[in-house]
Amino acid sequence: MEKKKRIVIALGGNALGNTLPEQMKAVKITAKAIVDLIEEGCDVIVAHGNGPQVGMVNNAMIALTHEDTEQPNTPLSVCVAMSQAYIGYDLQNALREELLNRGIDHIPVATMITQVRVDADDPVFQSPSKPIGKFVSEEQANIMEEKYNYVMKEDAGRGYRRVVASPKPVEIIEIETIRTMVEAGNVVIACGGGGIPVTRQGNHLKGASAVIDKDFASCLMAKELNADFLIILTAVEKVALNFGTPDEKWLNDVSVEEAAQYIKEGHFAPGSMLPKVQAAVDFAGSKPGRTALITLLEKSRDAVQGKTGTMFHL
Ligand code: ADP
Ligand code: MG
Repeated sequence: MEKKKRIVIALGGNALGNTLPEQMKAVKITAKAIVDLIEEGCDVIVAHGNGPQVGMVNNAMIALTHEDTEQPNTPLSVCVAMSQAYIGYDLQNALREELLNRGIDHIPVATMITQVRVDADDPVFQSPSKPIGKFVSEEQANIMEEKYNYVMKEDAGRGYRRVVASPKPVEIIEIETIRTMVEAGNVVIACGGGGIPVTRQGNHLKGASAVIDKDFASCLMAKELNADFLIILTAVEKVALNFGTPDEKWLNDVSVEEAAQYIKEGHFAPGSMLPKVQAAVDFAGSKPGRTALITLLEKSRDAVQGKTGTMFHL
């Protein structure tokens, strides 16, 4: 019998929507795409982003401190943990239902609350740059800097926003539990929002005020689980050179060498396509036989069969 293909799927923002009702609807479509792959006989591990959701949780927790002065502000790491549970709940529920609707009743689904260790000496902590949460006035920004120790930055004339560091993931703390669950035949949702960022202090793991890129965390998890595929699902069917210009050229199939050259030439926007291509190159280049794909959610099955998407290989 052919060995089962192991796939790590990284879900982008469009797979989950921006609000509670949007997410409830979006996960049903997302679950269909994921169960398509399970039906083909693949082992699937699901990771996902959390930008809008962690922003929502963070705003709600700030509002709580206004309502109840006894409540201290909630650390960002706790907000990430809350977003993992909220998204995991909707996703595992939708996946379970889709599996049952197709008569598959022997595959359990579970979410793993995942901590991801970052390096406390990562230089990005000295220059936080990732904007999170809503825009506020200069006056509010000053209060937030003073009251919560936030770093606030003016953002392109639109007001002030909190900025945090986005350090590289170093270690997935719960990886052995995730592996055990995958090997027992579970569909596992893990590394949500890039994982809860923590640093090590002896035996204690301390939450960090940071956001780990989900594309990099998914890449690390795919390598650790010795996956065959890392599939990054986003809002475009393929990656392009000269994106958005008359010379736009969609890529079908690229070697990690070619892709590294395109990165150098500046074809991919930082903060959106660049981390995806970097993660794809890292995974595909890490061992022969590993393939990374970037495509649309609805195209994931076609992409695994080589029919569409941008494929990265050694
Ligand atoms: P996600 O929520 O999936 O992480 P992002 O918005 O962060 O999505 O990144 C995907 C977006 O990157 C695409 O919708 C596209 O507008 C943009 N993009 C930037 N550069 C490129 C490129 N070279 N090829 C394709 N898309 C690109
Ligand atoms: Mg993104």
